[in-house]
Amino acid sequence: MKELHISTKKRCELVDITRQVQDIVAESKIKEGICHIYCPHTTAAISINENSDENIETDLMNFLNHLVPHGKWLHDSVDGNGDAHIKANILGSDKSMPITDGKLLLGTWQSINFCEFDGPRDGRKVIVTILRALQSSRAY
Ligand code: ZN
Repeated sequence: MKELHISTKKRCELVDITRQVQDIVAESKIKEGICHIYCPHTTAAISINENSDENIETDLMNFLNHLVPHGKWLHDSVDGNGDAHIKANILGSDKSMPITDGKLLLGTWQSINFCEFDGPRDGRKVIVTILRALQSSRAY
């Protein structure tokens, strides 16, 4: 299990963490298994999405802002981030994926993103846990 530390610069943004997660997988020397990526925050999430077009981030944020506008939620009276909690819940706090041949099994256009909904913040964390497969999938 390893921890990534992320700083965000905007209230809402995606941070591509694919390279850092892949480095942890490589360090583990595990060839076949599962990589679990978990965000221990209630106003951020983990997503997998296309990595080649910046408009994907804009479209996703526009969609979420349309669905969950800022500043109209009961929780806003506590700390003004009711929308961030809802957006984080919609996308979810974790993802997992297979490891094959020592690499994340990601599609050509897939990347792993830390999704900030209440930034900018220092000290955001992502917990990466790697589980070794008991038996190689090649046996089947
Ligand atoms: Zn809050």
